[in-house]
Amino acid sequence: MAMATLSTPTAPDAVVPRGLPESALELARTVLIHGPLSRSELAGRVGLSTASLTRLSKPLLDAGVLVEGELVADGSVGRPVRLLDVHASVQNFVGIKVTGSAVLGALTDLRARDLATDELAFSGDSVEAVVDAIAELVERLRGNGSGVLTAVGISIGGNVDAHGVVLRAPFLGWRHVPLRRLLEERLGLPVAVENDVIALAAAEQWFGAGRTAANFAVLTIGAGVGYGIAINNRVVRTRDAGLGLGGHYPLDPNGPLCKEGHRGCSTGMLTIPSICAQVSAALGRPVDYEEVLALAADGNPVAAAVVDSAARALGRMIAAAANLAMVNTVVLAGEGIGMFAQVESIVQAALAADRDPEADPVELVVTPAAFDEWARGAAAIAIQQQAFAG
Ligand SMILES: [Zn+2]
Repeated sequence: MAMATLSTPTAPDAVVPRGLPESALELARTVLIHGPLSRSELAGRVGLSTASLTRLSKPLLDAGVLVEGELVADGSVGRPVRLLDVHASVQNFVGIKVTGSAVLGALTDLRARDLATDELAFSGDSVEAVVDAIAELVERLRGNGSGVLTAVGISIGGNVDAHGVVLRAPFLGWRHVPLRRLLEERLGLPVAVENDVIALAAAEQWFGAGRTAANFAVLTIGAGVGYGIAINNRVVRTRDAGLGLGGHYPLDPNGPLCKEGHRGCSTGMLTIPSICAQVSAALGRPVDYEEVLALAADGNPVAAAVVDSAARALGRMIAAAANLAMVNTVVLAGEGIGMFAQVESIVQAALAADRDPEADPVELVVTPAAFDEWARGAAAIAIQQQAFAG
């Protein structure tokens, strides 16, 4: 946005001054998440008097972290006021999702908006191979933004502790890998490492559904099923979050078996490998996910039966999440959510069947079924941990 040039020609770094009180950082975060905002709106959101707000925002404005934007009419004041906003383009972040065979990256601004995306395959599952691939991808991406690269976020399917140590990443065969330390040494930048579903929930919390919903659940479908929740504007992090506890939730007593031997669990019903395996077995030839959806849309009875069963299972899973966690917003994400558009009515019917008719309706937020969303989640973790951290 051009508004940044209005008031900050002398503060190109827009670095948060050290030693600011938490209330000032909270104010900056509120503008990041909800801005641009008028001073009166902002004062209301953070519960401050306008006098306190003026005092707390001054060092942020002086440093160029906050900027004064366009003039708009403010009915409560009766004259035009300038909106406060963040200077989003001066800080860049790289988010990288680590899979079993590739690293997928996005360069973003301070609001986790994609400026560039790229990916790089690696071979083997050694820590060195993954660290090398991450370092090369960061180099490739960092030149594509106009801002300073502030931090790097990494998301990984597995269990990650508060110090960025990957306690367990089954798809790489890793245990106790100090990934954050290794990458900070290699890159010379602050690095945040987080479980991939928690990272996706964090991106939604600040830059997606969470802007308007204090409580929401995230369901991801792809190679596996992931589940996370945010309650009272906080993403729930537990020691077990990386174990994939939503992955084997029972959904259909007549469904296919998963590798753990559960019949009709969420992995058996919803994941891409299971859906493709069921259709491939019945048709006697290998069929990929895209073709399964195309066949189902064309009325192929095998593909339609499998996809419709998956849709009913998804409706049940959404209802279970909404009912038990008491959330009214469910974000659907992951590569395997591609089916949603063509079976939405089945999903909604199954959801309604498992929900009290007097309960508030469940709002479904469907994110693009693309790997970029995972990388964006990783960037959001870096933003949350590094921007406005004081
Ligand atoms: Zn299972």
